[in-house]
Amino acid sequence: MNEEALADALTHLPLGEIRYFDAIGSTNDEALIWANAGAPDLSLIVADEQTRGRGRMKRAWFTPPQAALAFSLILRPTIAEQPHLSKLVGLAALSIVQALEAFGISAQVKWPNDILIHQRKAAGILTELIWSGEQAVCAVIGVGLNVTKQAVPSADALTLPAVSLEDALGRIIPREELIRNILTAFIELRPQLSADALIHQWNKMLAYRGERVSVEVGAGQTLTGSLDGLLPDGSLCLCGDNGKRIIVHFGDVRLRPFADILER
Ligand code: ATP
Repeated sequence: MNEEALADALTHLPLGEIRYFDAIGSTNDEALIWANAGAPDLSLIVADEQTRGRGRMKRAWFTPPQAALAFSLILRPTIAEQPHLSKLVGLAALSIVQALEAFGISAQVKWPNDILIHQRKAAGILTELIWSGEQAVCAVIGVGLNVTKQAVPSADALTLPAVSLEDALGRIIPREELIRNILTAFIELRPQLSADALIHQWNKMLAYRGERVSVEVGAGQTLTGSLDGLLPDGSLCLCGDNGKRIIVHFGDVRLRPFADILER
């Protein structure tokens, strides 16, 4: 991937400005700086390599050169979108799943922010907001997607097995095609941010539905139950072991299939 090929691939999309980097610390860090400096809606940062890629809670996201798709999309949320921004992660996840489907790859969403292929993590999403008082003036949606085998970290760096699209498909999808398809899907889905249809589609692509899962919710607390699905605001709903409903809100939560916990 290079700057020209990227610009060519994205030419028909109604994006803001595009900035491409051969190497960068983190696309989200750069996007947050640019957003604060006035980047227009749907501006995009793309990097071939991230040297300090971040997941949630500053956990490291591995992005070696020429192997991964790493980008951050800057949004200027409308007034109508304001109450629904917690669901942006779902919108991004669906866009990735739909884009992968077009290449014949079946993927699922591990709530809240990961994309799985055959139970292995192929992509992560990191959504960050910039606030002014009660309003989010900007949202930054960062995506890291393992395209070639080289993008997959060694197993000792992982708490969940990882996979690349090359592993899943047996060939390398050009990153320009991938990002074009993901952004096309995102722009088409964006008007659904406030609609029930988004939750419906997100639910259908949810990993572990009906299965027993555990959720680490911080402070050493783990909730277990069977995964029911999503509530209208995108929160996760479990049926607890005593039959009571457990609602898990967005935050630093880590979802796992229950068997995985037993194996550790
Ligand atoms: P988990 O993936 O354990 O459920 P999480 O969703 O909170 O946790 P994130 O913060 O989204 O994880 O991502 C960071 C974690 O993802 C790292 O701690 C590492 O285990 C894993 N990771 C880092 N780089 C990659 C990569 N390229 N592919 C797959 N997994 C990765």
